[in-house]
Amino acid sequence: MSKYHLVLGLEIHFHLRTKKKVFCGCIANFYGAKPNTHVCPTCLGLPGALPVANFEAVEKAQILGLALNCKLNEFSRFDRKHYFYPDLPKGYQISQYLYPLCLDGFVELDNGKKCELERIHLEEDTAKSIHRSGETLIDYNKSGSPLVEIVTKPIFESAGEAVEFAKKIQDVVRTLDIADVDMEKGQLRLEANISVRTTEMKEKGILPDYKVEVKNINSFRFLEKAINYEIERQSEILEKGERVPQENRGFNEVKNITVSQRKKEEVKDYRDLPDPDLPPMFFDKKHFEDLRKNLPELPRQTYEKLKSKYSLNDNQAKFLSNGDGLLLVEKFYSLAEKSDPIKVANLLINKPETRELSNDDFLSQIKAFAVSEISEERLNEAVETVLRNETDAFEKLRSGKDQVLMYLVGQVMRELKTKADTTKIISIIKSKLN
Ligand code: ZN
Ligand code: MN
Repeated sequence: MSKYHLVLGLEIHFHLRTKKKVFCGCIANFYGAKPNTHVCPTCLGLPGALPVANFEAVEKAQILGLALNCKLNEFSRFDRKHYFYPDLPKGYQISQYLYPLCLDGFVELDNGKKCELERIHLEEDTAKSIHRSGETLIDYNKSGSPLVEIVTKPIFESAGEAVEFAKKIQDVVRTLDIADVDMEKGQLRLEANISVRTTEMKEKGILPDYKVEVKNINSFRFLEKAINYEIERQSEILEKGERVPQENRGFNEVKNITVSQRKKEEVKDYRDLPDPDLPPMFFDKKHFEDLRKNLPELPRQTYEKLKSKYSLNDNQAKFLSNGDGLLLVEKFYSLAEKSDPIKVANLLINKPETRELSNDDFLSQIKAFAVSEISEERLNEAVETVLRNETDAFEKLRSGKDQVLMYLVGQVMRELKTKADTTKIISIIKSKLN
């Protein structure tokens, strides 16, 4: 057990799906288009061109805020964040600093832990640099795309928690239907602010005085690897009595390590100031109420409902309220009206080939599946497989340790990938004892 504990906050950027870009009239969907065909004076950053905020983007960011339990600001505005980079033609990015659209909020993990957010804001994306044979080309199609940024508190204590959180954000965004968040298209990017601290610091609630920012992570697997690599690397540095430098690092996907990019600039270097070209925004409570009324059922509500209304077990409820399982929920609801919800869930989860069936065909499959579920022969096979693999447990049972019986029953159900009649399984297991 390492003596250092992870302190981790995430920043998640994703592209909203809007008709137009965030501050100009260019069509936002540029995927597959020729370079520099979705551009205008505003998103090219030409002098004198003026931005106009896209209300569709503002509203979608606010809907996300409501879904993530945020407080929506009645006053919000855009600020200029200055830095120099070839793909940022104005020399600043329009973002939100002091008055973001949404504050606080949280996401609940499956184990009940509430991961708190700091804020959600709206900003513009940069253009794209393409480095090729010693030259850099710039494609401005991406410039001015609406980006949402979610910033969490340093709340995560393991890479697993961070990955679960990020996946839940993706699920919520897809449920709200405000973005595609396709990681392969670079529509969802993760940044991890990572540091470690001693047990004593943790007990006293002291945060480390540095953080390492791993930028531009584009898969959940890389996020996990980058975090675990940093825990090791930083612990080793501290163990030697040295300080961990505050810096930006990137994840090298080939070597599975992080590499230093640049020392982090101080916050003041961005010289954030209100953007005078964009009027501040005021929202009334009625606007927020209208948005709230139109929220769909969110994954966490689906999870609760599957357990309470349909009596699914925890694994079934988790399956149908996470990731691709969410795509099956509507089908589940409509079938559960007409049949035993537990059987419907079993079939949908365990027999992927049934997912495409019409409801009528599905319902007749349930009957066939229910019969096979209790087939003596299948139970017998499953018990034999388990007893072959679980020789230790079986020996214990033979020597009179009845406690392992329920364990073996559980293993048999796992083998069957479905619930089955417990008493039947027990009697088959016992029959094998002699
Ligand atoms: Zn434009
Ligand atoms: Mn940002």
